Amino acid sequence: MSKSNLQNAQNKLLSWYEIHGRKDLPWRNTENIYHVYVSEVMLQQTQVKRVLEEYYFQFLQRFPSFATLANASLEEVFGMWSGLGYYRRAKNLHESAKLCANGLPQDLKSLQKLPGIGRYTASAICSFGYHQSVSVVDTNIARVLARYFGVEDAKEAYLWELADGFLNHSNPTSHNLALMDLGAMVCLPKNPMCEECPLVGGCKGASEPHKYYKVLSKKYENKKLHFGICERNGKIAMKRSHDGMYKDMLELPNIETSFCEKDLLGTFAHAVTKYRLEVHVYSLDFIEEDILWIAQDSLHKAGISSMTKKALKLYNGTKIFREGV
Ligand code: SF4
Repeated sequence: MSKSNLQNAQNKLLSWYEIHGRKDLPWRNTENIYHVYVSEVMLQQTQVKRVLEEYYFQFLQRFPSFATLANASLEEVFGMWSGLGYYRRAKNLHESAKLCANGLPQDLKSLQKLPGIGRYTASAICSFGYHQSVSVVDTNIARVLARYFGVEDAKEAYLWELADGFLNHSNPTSHNLALMDLGAMVCLPKNPMCEECPLVGGCKGASEPHKYYKVLSKKYENKKLHFGICERNGKIAMKRSHDGMYKDMLELPNIETSFCEKDLLGTFAHAVTKYRLEVHVYSLDFIEEDILWIAQDSLHKAGISSMTKKALKLYNGTKIFREGV
Protein backbone atom coordinates (compact mmCIF):
# COMPACT_ATOMS: atom_id res chain seq x y z
CA MET A 1 0.00 0.00 0.00
CA SER A 2 1.42 3.41 -0.95
CA LYS A 3 1.96 6.01 1.73
CA SER A 4 -0.76 8.28 0.36
CA ASN A 5 -3.30 5.42 0.20
CA LEU A 6 -2.39 4.48 3.76
CA GLN A 7 -2.89 8.05 5.01
CA ASN A 8 -6.11 8.34 3.08
CA ALA A 9 -7.52 5.18 4.71
CA GLN A 10 -6.35 6.26 8.17
CA ASN A 11 -7.98 9.68 7.77
CA LYS A 12 -11.27 8.21 6.58
CA LEU A 13 -11.27 5.84 9.52
CA LEU A 14 -10.72 8.68 12.01
CA SER A 15 -13.41 10.85 10.39
CA TRP A 16 -15.85 7.94 10.68
CA TYR A 17 -14.91 7.46 14.34
CA GLU A 18 -15.53 11.16 15.08
CA ILE A 19 -19.14 10.77 13.96
CA HIS A 20 -20.02 7.15 14.72
CA GLY A 21 -17.54 5.92 17.36
CA ARG A 22 -18.64 4.91 20.86
CA LYS A 23 -16.69 7.80 22.34
CA ASP A 24 -18.91 8.21 25.37
CA LEU A 25 -18.04 4.85 26.94
CA PRO A 26 -16.78 5.70 30.44
CA TRP A 27 -13.51 3.76 30.14
CA ARG A 28 -12.69 5.84 27.05
CA ASN A 29 -13.04 9.04 29.06
CA THR A 30 -10.74 8.46 31.96
CA GLU A 31 -7.04 8.82 32.63
CA ASN A 32 -7.36 6.38 35.55
CA ILE A 33 -5.36 3.34 34.45
CA TYR A 34 -7.06 1.13 37.04
CA HIS A 35 -10.45 1.90 35.47
CA VAL A 36 -9.12 1.10 32.00
CA TYR A 37 -7.65 -2.17 33.27
CA VAL A 38 -10.87 -3.26 35.01
CA SER A 39 -12.90 -2.48 31.89
CA GLU A 40 -10.55 -4.45 29.65
CA VAL A 41 -10.72 -7.52 31.89
CA MET A 42 -14.53 -7.34 32.12
CA LEU A 43 -14.86 -6.89 28.36
CA GLN A 44 -12.69 -9.92 27.55
CA GLN A 45 -15.69 -12.28 27.35
CA THR A 46 -18.69 -10.05 28.00
CA GLN A 47 -20.78 -7.67 25.91
CA VAL A 48 -20.27 -3.92 26.39
CA LYS A 49 -23.93 -3.36 27.32
CA ARG A 50 -23.85 -5.90 30.17
CA VAL A 51 -20.56 -4.62 31.57
CA LEU A 52 -21.83 -1.05 31.42
CA GLU A 53 -25.24 -1.65 32.94
CA GLU A 54 -24.51 -4.26 35.59
CA TYR A 55 -20.86 -4.47 36.58
CA TYR A 56 -18.39 -1.70 35.74
CA PHE A 57 -19.65 1.09 38.03
CA GLN A 58 -20.70 -1.30 40.79
CA PHE A 59 -17.27 -2.93 40.86
CA LEU A 60 -15.43 0.41 40.90
CA GLN A 61 -17.68 1.72 43.63
CA ARG A 62 -16.86 -1.27 45.83
CA PHE A 63 -13.16 -1.42 44.84
CA PRO A 64 -12.20 2.12 43.77
CA SER A 65 -8.44 1.50 43.55
CA PHE A 66 -5.75 -1.16 43.25
CA ALA A 67 -5.27 -0.90 47.02
CA THR A 68 -8.92 -1.55 47.92
CA LEU A 69 -9.05 -4.46 45.49
CA ALA A 70 -5.79 -5.91 46.83
CA ASN A 71 -7.03 -5.66 50.43
CA ALA A 72 -10.37 -7.36 49.71
CA SER A 73 -10.84 -11.11 50.11
CA LEU A 74 -11.20 -13.26 47.00
CA GLU A 75 -14.74 -14.08 48.14
CA GLU A 76 -15.66 -10.39 48.13
CA VAL A 77 -14.23 -10.01 44.62
CA PHE A 78 -16.15 -13.07 43.42
CA GLY A 79 -19.23 -11.57 45.06
CA MET A 80 -18.99 -8.44 42.88
CA TRP A 81 -18.22 -10.59 39.82
CA SER A 82 -21.15 -12.90 40.49
CA GLY A 83 -23.07 -13.70 37.30
CA LEU A 84 -20.43 -12.22 34.98
CA GLY A 85 -18.89 -15.66 34.40
CA TYR A 86 -15.31 -16.66 33.57
CA TYR A 87 -14.38 -16.21 37.22
CA ARG A 88 -10.68 -16.76 36.60
CA ARG A 89 -10.69 -13.17 35.30
CA ALA A 90 -11.72 -11.91 38.73
CA LYS A 91 -9.06 -14.01 40.43
CA ASN A 92 -6.35 -12.75 38.05
CA LEU A 93 -7.46 -9.15 38.56
CA HIS A 94 -7.27 -9.63 42.31
CA GLU A 95 -3.81 -11.20 42.12
CA SER A 96 -2.54 -8.46 39.80
CA ALA A 97 -3.81 -5.79 42.19
CA LYS A 98 -1.79 -7.40 44.98
CA LEU A 99 1.32 -7.30 42.79
CA CYS A 100 0.77 -3.70 41.67
CA ALA A 101 0.52 -1.69 44.86
CA ASN A 102 2.46 1.10 43.11
CA GLY A 103 0.39 0.99 39.93
CA LEU A 104 0.50 -0.98 36.71
CA PRO A 105 3.71 -1.26 34.68
CA GLN A 106 3.81 0.92 31.57
CA ASP A 107 5.33 -1.39 29.00
CA LEU A 108 3.99 -4.35 27.04
CA LYS A 109 6.50 -6.89 28.33
CA SER A 110 6.08 -6.15 32.03
CA LEU A 111 2.29 -6.05 31.72
CA GLN A 112 2.27 -9.52 30.15
CA LYS A 113 4.00 -10.92 33.22
CA LEU A 114 0.90 -10.19 35.32
CA PRO A 115 -1.75 -12.91 35.78
CA GLY A 116 -4.33 -13.01 33.01
CA ILE A 117 -2.73 -10.31 30.86
CA GLY A 118 -1.90 -11.49 27.37
CA ARG A 119 -0.77 -9.55 24.33
CA TYR A 120 -4.20 -8.08 23.60
CA THR A 121 -4.89 -6.78 27.12
CA ALA A 122 -1.34 -5.43 27.49
CA SER A 123 -1.67 -3.59 24.16
CA ALA A 124 -5.11 -2.26 25.05
CA ILE A 125 -3.81 -0.88 28.36
CA CYS A 126 -0.81 0.73 26.62
CA SER A 127 -2.95 2.19 23.83
CA PHE A 128 -6.16 3.20 25.63
CA GLY A 129 -4.71 3.89 29.06
CA TYR A 130 -1.19 5.22 28.42
CA HIS A 131 -1.84 6.48 24.84
CA GLN A 132 1.28 4.81 23.53
CA SER A 133 1.80 4.23 19.82
CA VAL A 134 1.16 0.48 19.80
CA SER A 135 -1.23 -1.57 17.71
CA VAL A 136 -4.12 -3.56 19.14
CA VAL A 137 -5.72 -6.71 17.71
CA ASP A 138 -8.90 -8.15 19.15
CA THR A 139 -11.44 -10.31 17.29
CA ASN A 140 -13.21 -7.28 15.79
CA ILE A 141 -9.99 -5.67 14.58
CA ALA A 142 -8.69 -9.01 13.27
CA ARG A 143 -11.81 -9.39 11.13
CA VAL A 144 -11.51 -5.88 9.65
CA LEU A 145 -7.80 -6.34 8.88
CA ALA A 146 -8.25 -9.80 7.33
CA ARG A 147 -10.95 -8.47 5.02
CA TYR A 148 -9.35 -5.12 4.26
CA PHE A 149 -6.01 -6.67 3.30
CA GLY A 150 -7.63 -9.74 1.75
CA VAL A 151 -5.94 -12.39 3.87
CA GLU A 152 -7.41 -15.88 4.01
CA ASP A 153 -6.96 -17.90 7.20
CA ALA A 154 -4.64 -15.27 8.63
CA LYS A 155 -2.36 -16.38 11.45
CA GLU A 156 -2.47 -14.25 14.58
CA ALA A 157 1.16 -13.13 14.26
CA TYR A 158 0.51 -11.92 10.72
CA LEU A 159 -2.55 -9.93 11.82
CA TRP A 160 -0.39 -8.15 14.42
CA GLU A 161 2.08 -7.31 11.62
CA LEU A 162 -0.74 -5.89 9.49
CA ALA A 163 -2.01 -3.88 12.48
CA ASP A 164 1.51 -2.47 13.04
CA GLY A 165 1.77 -1.42 9.38
CA PHE A 166 -1.69 0.16 9.39
CA LEU A 167 -1.27 1.99 12.72
CA ASN A 168 -1.76 5.76 12.61
CA HIS A 169 1.12 7.06 14.72
CA SER A 170 -0.35 10.59 14.80
CA ASN A 171 -3.41 9.40 16.72
CA PRO A 172 -2.89 5.74 17.71
CA THR A 173 -5.50 5.57 20.47
CA SER A 174 -8.39 6.81 18.32
CA HIS A 175 -7.16 4.72 15.39
CA ASN A 176 -7.33 1.50 17.42
CA LEU A 177 -10.69 2.40 18.95
CA ALA A 178 -12.03 3.25 15.49
CA LEU A 179 -10.96 -0.14 14.10
CA MET A 180 -12.52 -1.86 17.09
CA ASP A 181 -15.83 -0.01 16.64
CA LEU A 182 -15.80 -0.57 12.89
CA GLY A 183 -15.55 -4.32 13.50
CA ALA A 184 -18.26 -4.23 16.17
CA MET A 185 -20.69 -1.99 14.28
CA VAL A 186 -20.07 -2.24 10.52
CA CYS A 187 -17.71 -5.05 9.50
CA LEU A 188 -19.92 -7.63 11.20
CA PRO A 189 -19.09 -11.36 11.15
CA LYS A 190 -22.18 -12.42 9.20
CA ASN A 191 -23.49 -9.35 7.41
CA PRO A 192 -20.83 -6.66 6.94
CA MET A 193 -22.33 -3.34 5.90
CA CYS A 194 -19.71 -2.44 3.29
CA GLU A 195 -21.78 0.36 1.81
CA GLU A 196 -21.48 2.23 5.13
CA CYS A 197 -17.80 1.48 5.68
CA PRO A 198 -15.18 4.25 5.44
CA LEU A 199 -12.62 1.69 4.19
CA VAL A 200 -14.71 0.32 1.32
CA GLY A 201 -12.65 2.10 -1.38
CA GLY A 202 -9.47 0.17 -0.62
CA CYS A 203 -10.90 -3.01 0.89
CA LYS A 204 -9.83 -6.19 -0.89
CA GLY A 205 -12.59 -8.16 0.79
CA ALA A 206 -15.49 -5.79 0.11
CA SER A 207 -16.80 -7.85 -2.81
CA GLU A 208 -16.59 -11.19 -0.99
CA PRO A 209 -15.99 -10.53 2.73
CA HIS A 210 -16.79 -14.09 3.80
CA LYS A 211 -13.90 -15.40 1.73
CA TYR A 212 -11.59 -13.70 4.21
CA TYR A 213 -13.53 -14.26 7.38
CA LYS A 214 -15.56 -17.39 7.83
CA VAL A 215 -18.24 -17.58 10.50
CA LEU A 216 -17.56 -20.90 12.17
CA SER A 217 -20.53 -22.64 13.72
CA LYS A 218 -19.89 -23.35 17.38
CA LYS A 219 -19.57 -26.90 18.60
CA TYR A 220 -21.26 -27.55 21.92
CA GLU A 221 -20.77 -30.36 24.38
CA ASN A 222 -23.79 -31.73 26.22
CA LYS A 223 -23.38 -32.69 29.88
CA LYS A 224 -25.56 -33.71 32.80
CA LEU A 225 -24.82 -32.43 36.31
CA HIS A 226 -26.39 -33.55 39.60
CA PHE A 227 -26.36 -31.21 42.58
CA GLY A 228 -27.55 -32.04 46.08
CA ILE A 229 -28.90 -29.39 48.43
CA CYS A 230 -28.79 -30.04 52.16
CA GLU A 231 -30.06 -27.35 54.55
CA ARG A 232 -29.62 -27.12 58.30
CA ASN A 233 -30.80 -24.19 60.41
CA GLY A 234 -30.92 -21.88 57.42
CA LYS A 235 -27.44 -22.90 56.26
CA ILE A 236 -26.65 -24.66 53.00
CA ALA A 237 -23.93 -27.29 52.52
CA MET A 238 -21.42 -25.91 50.02
CA LYS A 239 -18.03 -27.00 48.71
CA ARG A 240 -15.05 -25.00 47.55
CA SER A 241 -14.26 -25.89 43.94
CA HIS A 242 -10.62 -26.85 43.42
CA ASP A 243 -10.48 -26.90 39.63
CA GLY A 244 -12.31 -26.13 36.43
CA MET A 245 -13.96 -22.88 35.46
CA TYR A 246 -15.35 -22.30 38.97
CA LYS A 247 -12.02 -22.85 40.74
CA ASP A 248 -11.97 -21.29 44.26
CA MET A 249 -15.68 -20.51 44.19
CA LEU A 250 -18.38 -21.99 46.37
CA GLU A 251 -20.57 -24.55 44.66
CA LEU A 252 -23.16 -27.15 45.57
CA PRO A 253 -21.88 -30.71 46.06
CA ASN A 254 -22.02 -33.00 43.03
CA ILE A 255 -23.75 -36.23 43.96
CA GLU A 256 -24.31 -39.82 42.84
CA THR A 257 -27.94 -40.03 41.86
CA SER A 258 -28.73 -43.73 42.26
CA PHE A 259 -29.85 -43.40 45.90
CA CYS A 260 -31.93 -40.28 45.71
CA GLU A 261 -33.90 -40.23 42.46
CA LYS A 262 -37.08 -39.84 44.50
CA ASP A 263 -35.80 -36.57 45.95
CA LEU A 264 -35.33 -34.90 42.59
CA LEU A 265 -36.60 -31.32 42.93
CA GLY A 266 -36.35 -30.46 39.27
CA THR A 267 -34.05 -29.83 36.34
CA PHE A 268 -33.03 -26.82 34.31
CA ALA A 269 -30.90 -26.05 31.28
CA HIS A 270 -27.81 -23.89 31.58
CA ALA A 271 -25.30 -22.77 28.94
CA VAL A 272 -21.74 -21.86 29.83
CA THR A 273 -18.74 -21.55 27.49
CA LYS A 274 -18.87 -24.60 25.17
CA TYR A 275 -21.15 -26.62 27.44
CA ARG A 276 -24.91 -27.13 27.23
CA LEU A 277 -25.80 -28.45 30.66
CA GLU A 278 -28.81 -30.34 31.94
CA VAL A 279 -28.72 -29.67 35.67
CA HIS A 280 -30.60 -31.95 38.10
CA VAL A 281 -31.23 -30.68 41.61
CA TYR A 282 -31.92 -33.01 44.56
CA SER A 283 -32.88 -32.51 48.16
CA LEU A 284 -30.57 -34.28 50.63
CA ASP A 285 -31.31 -35.19 54.26
CA PHE A 286 -27.70 -35.79 55.16
CA ILE A 287 -24.29 -35.20 53.67
CA GLU A 288 -21.06 -37.00 54.41
CA GLU A 289 -18.53 -34.97 52.48
CA ASP A 290 -16.29 -32.25 53.83
CA ILE A 291 -18.53 -29.27 53.43
CA LEU A 292 -18.89 -25.65 54.50
CA TRP A 293 -22.17 -24.56 56.06
CA ILE A 294 -23.03 -21.14 54.62
CA ALA A 295 -26.03 -19.04 55.63
CA GLN A 296 -28.35 -18.68 52.62
CA ASP A 297 -28.53 -14.90 52.87
CA SER A 298 -24.74 -14.51 52.73
CA LEU A 299 -24.21 -16.82 49.75
CA HIS A 300 -24.65 -14.08 47.16
CA LYS A 301 -21.94 -11.96 48.84
CA ALA A 302 -19.50 -14.88 48.66
CA GLY A 303 -19.78 -15.07 44.88
CA ILE A 304 -21.61 -18.03 43.43
CA SER A 305 -22.09 -18.84 39.78
CA SER A 306 -25.36 -18.12 38.01
CA MET A 307 -25.81 -21.90 37.67
CA THR A 308 -25.66 -22.31 41.47
CA LYS A 309 -28.07 -19.40 41.85
CA LYS A 310 -30.52 -21.14 39.53
CA ALA A 311 -30.25 -24.39 41.53
CA LEU A 312 -30.91 -22.56 44.81
CA LYS A 313 -33.82 -20.70 43.28
CA LEU A 314 -35.32 -24.01 42.20
CA TYR A 315 -34.76 -25.39 45.72
CA ASN A 316 -36.37 -22.38 47.39
CA GLY A 317 -39.25 -22.43 44.92
CA THR A 318 -40.15 -26.00 45.89
CA LYS A 319 -39.48 -25.55 49.61
CA ILE A 320 -42.88 -24.14 50.57
CA PHE A 321 -44.60 -27.00 48.81
CA ARG A 322 -42.35 -29.64 50.42
CA GLU A 323 -42.71 -28.22 53.93
CA GLY A 324 -46.46 -28.01 53.53
CA VAL A 325 -46.76 -31.73 52.66
S1 SF4 B 1 -15.56 -2.70 3.22
FE1 SF4 B 1 -16.80 -4.33 4.07
S2 SF4 B 1 -15.41 -6.05 4.33
FE2 SF4 B 1 -14.15 -4.23 3.98
S3 SF4 B 1 -13.63 -3.54 6.06
FE3 SF4 B 1 -15.45 -2.43 5.41
S4 SF4 B 1 -17.21 -3.62 6.14
FE4 SF4 B 1 -15.38 -4.92 6.25
